[in-house]
Amino acid sequence: MENKRDFLKKLSLLTVGGVVGSSIVPAIASEKSASSFSAAKKSIGLQIYSLGKELVENVPAGMKKIAEIGYSTIELAGYGNRKMGIYEVADYKKIVDDAGLKITSSHVNPPVRKYSADNVAQIDDFWKKTVEDHVKLGVKFLVQPGMPSIESQEDAKLVCEVFNKAGEVAKSAGIKWGYHNHHMEFKRVVKESEKTTTENQNPFQQKGDVIYDLLLNGTDPGLVFFEMDVYWTVMGQNDPLEYFEKYPTRFPVLHIKDRSVLGKSGMMNFENIFNLAYKNGLSEYYVEIEKVKTNMTQFEGVKDCFTYLNNASFVK
Ligand code: MG
Repeated sequence: MENKRDFLKKLSLLTVGGVVGSSIVPAIASEKSASSFSAAKKSIGLQIYSLGKELVENVPAGMKKIAEIGYSTIELAGYGNRKMGIYEVADYKKIVDDAGLKITSSHVNPPVRKYSADNVAQIDDFWKKTVEDHVKLGVKFLVQPGMPSIESQEDAKLVCEVFNKAGEVAKSAGIKWGYHNHHMEFKRVVKESEKTTTENQNPFQQKGDVIYDLLLNGTDPGLVFFEMDVYWTVMGQNDPLEYFEKYPTRFPVLHIKDRSVLGKSGMMNFENIFNLAYKNGLSEYYVEIEKVKTNMTQFEGVKDCFTYLNNASFVK
């Protein structure tokens, strides 16, 4: 299927050939108006994790393909050892720039999952180096996508302190630092002193406070934002809209995700999600798709997700 840009290009050529005639000047004018129209297209972002090895095996060609589908921005995944895969960060940025895309965000996890007084300095140091590299990548957002170990309210408190510190380091370099959830953030934890041995088997129905709320309430809104993954919130038996209402300023960035291709499962009400997110000042969102289950490539899945959002009247 041709994308919007190809279609407009053909349309402009057809107009020149069929109506305007043989002059080269209107052809240039039409080309210009076609490209200025496509520049006003919807700005849709992609989390590149969605493409898996289909992107990694040829990054320059893959980035061009992402741009051809119509995406404008990307959120990275795969930063490690101060590189992006086999590439130095500056080289990676050039590849993305050359494809006409913009890196606006990046997912990075610190090297440890269980935070303690013994390793907080190591984590702080990790974020300092990571922020330095992400200044070179030109991101607006730096996001931790993996949940640290949180088994008690005390654990949550320490995690919030580490998050605030990471946010401070990023802020000093002009980058906003955020946290991305899966579903386990919606389980509840009690204080160490309240722990019992007869806990309910269903972690979502235990007593105590919801971890996600502990993180939202325990972090400084000026230092830490939350990139809500709306699909994982639903999988955590919660309603994204209730969170948007309860914490209207904390979700400037979203992961737009469904069980597979967007809009197919029927379990996600994207219209309500976008409406309220825009009202709350949504800055950017990224499409994410796990491994597609049917007989299609990741690129095809990513393209169908773009088409869904591009055709949706509720997406600006
Ligand atoms: Mg996600």
